[in-house]
Amino acid sequence: MTEEYVQEKWSLDDLFPDIDSPELQEASKHLEEKVKVIEDVRPKLTEELTQEELLEILAKYEELIRLLRRIVSYGHLRFAEDTQDQAAQTYLGQVQQLTAEVDNRTMFFSLWWKALEDDVAEDLLAGAGDYAYWLEALRLQKPYTLTEPEEKVINLKDVNGSQAMVNLYTAITNRYAFTLEDNGEVKELTRGELSVYYRSPDPDLRKAAYQELYRVYGKDTPILGQIYQYRARDWRSELVDLRGFASPIAARNLSNNVPDEVVDALINACKENSSIFHRFYRLKARWLGVDRIRRYDIYAPVTETDKSYPFSEAIEMILESFNQFDEQFADLSMKVLSEHHLDSEVRKGKRSGAFCATVGPDLTPWVLTSYQGKPDNVATLAHELGHAVHSLVANHHTALTQDASLPLAETASTFGEMLLVDHLLATDPDPGVQRDLLFKQMDDAYATVMRQAYFADFERTAHDMIKSGAAVDDLSQAYVENLEDQFGDSLDLSDDFRIEWVAIPHIYHTPFYVYAYAFGQLLVYSLYRQYMEDGKRFKSRYMEILSAGGSDAPVRILDKAGVDVRSPEFWQGGFDFLEGQIEKLEEIEIPA
Ligand SMILES: [Zn+2]
Repeated sequence: MTEEYVQEKWSLDDLFPDIDSPELQEASKHLEEKVKVIEDVRPKLTEELTQEELLEILAKYEELIRLLRRIVSYGHLRFAEDTQDQAAQTYLGQVQQLTAEVDNRTMFFSLWWKALEDDVAEDLLAGAGDYAYWLEALRLQKPYTLTEPEEKVINLKDVNGSQAMVNLYTAITNRYAFTLEDNGEVKELTRGELSVYYRSPDPDLRKAAYQELYRVYGKDTPILGQIYQYRARDWRSELVDLRGFASPIAARNLSNNVPDEVVDALINACKENSSIFHRFYRLKARWLGVDRIRRYDIYAPVTETDKSYPFSEAIEMILESFNQFDEQFADLSMKVLSEHHLDSEVRKGKRSGAFCATVGPDLTPWVLTSYQGKPDNVATLAHELGHAVHSLVANHHTALTQDASLPLAETASTFGEMLLVDHLLATDPDPGVQRDLLFKQMDDAYATVMRQAYFADFERTAHDMIKSGAAVDDLSQAYVENLEDQFGDSLDLSDDFRIEWVAIPHIYHTPFYVYAYAFGQLLVYSLYRQYMEDGKRFKSRYMEILSAGGSDAPVRILDKAGVDVRSPEFWQGGFDFLEGQIEKLEEIEIPA
């Protein structure tokens, strides 16, 4: 039996009917009441507070957060579905302001909590149930917290300061239109559409697509580079100079609750293993029949086949592969579709890329992707649906502890992708498919592990250089050196890529976020191997990791599942897996 799945725009009706709807106005009123409830508990906050009283306050606070997230998410999702819609732009600005105000009016609670003596806090923590890790994580920031008036000033100034910078970057770059001549036809494309051509079988089109990307970004490099400088300077003045973090990346590490040395070990392991990908690119050159590939060719398909999967087929493949692992995995992804929470259409003005947004434990997450039929798009869809599964498996937690923290945030998404790939390996009778999928897996491993680790390495360098007064051109030069270290002599690097860094939204939005991808992906390679070896027994340990959500420190959650991220062998294990994949590829005979 074949069911037809339709590619559509999502419905946000489970949140609100519209920006100017009475429901949304009503919700804003309720929010104000809930904020007042929290403000009223302020006098109770003393060292004498009992465990029961604390739980009661936390429950009220959680109610407030659930409602706030509905309102704020609605703003983000409306903006994502059409970044050029003026009403959505305005509303997004309003909800960001609202978030800052609510934070300001309720932050006395976390300040009180962080200021408590250790023994008092420990007593209270013991009775905090599922809120415990959220409370514990707050105290991690204790040595880096400023006074209440200082915190308020930072929050308020950020809305029209660093947050505004990031919004400007988004507004400027999402407006870009790219033109490309394909088969004699000149097409106007979004960035998402343009990026499909990086994987075109036609080498000239791949080159033209990258050149078009950097032609458009290149015109604005001075201003985009300047926005980055502001962002990096602000990050350092706040986090290093005012709050006292040892380095710009240390602030991200603490918010991930991953020790600095674990992150260093990860990035260093990636840099030490760059030769694995050099080997891969030399192999790819042989398949493509060239002496050496160009940077334009790193995602080149090794065959002429341009396989495309209709949307409905893609969904069926994903559900089938999820179902073979675990029925729940498939059922939960199906919820996203049946509740119309998936926006898979291609539309101009729609946010590029893909994401899954969790609003709260009582709502099925929303997933956005621009599905264009390529195997890559199928994998992306499996990835984002994996995120949704993670979120739903953990929805027995509170709104404060449901979301996995960054290092574990990719555990279900990447795993879902691998399930899909394995399923295709096993079921697609096309003899070329095995080769294509292994190539694709390596391409992805590059994009998710190596590329991201080198981005993080660049961020470390760039933040330090900006402190010493580096100009935009200096940063571009540093970026070229980063690429040279990454690729060695395994490919021809052209000068276009010197400005690639201004085209990476993550380093603007969420500095140092990117290493979490490398962390998550290597972690999953290791977990997946355990699944192959251990089958059923693994499944329950794995589902335990997922259902923990964000209710404990990532390293502790992994410890319980027997994964030791402190050991260097652990990271090396991920690369050994990849080397094994390359060996499999090298055994396949290259047609004359
Ligand atoms: Zn993801």
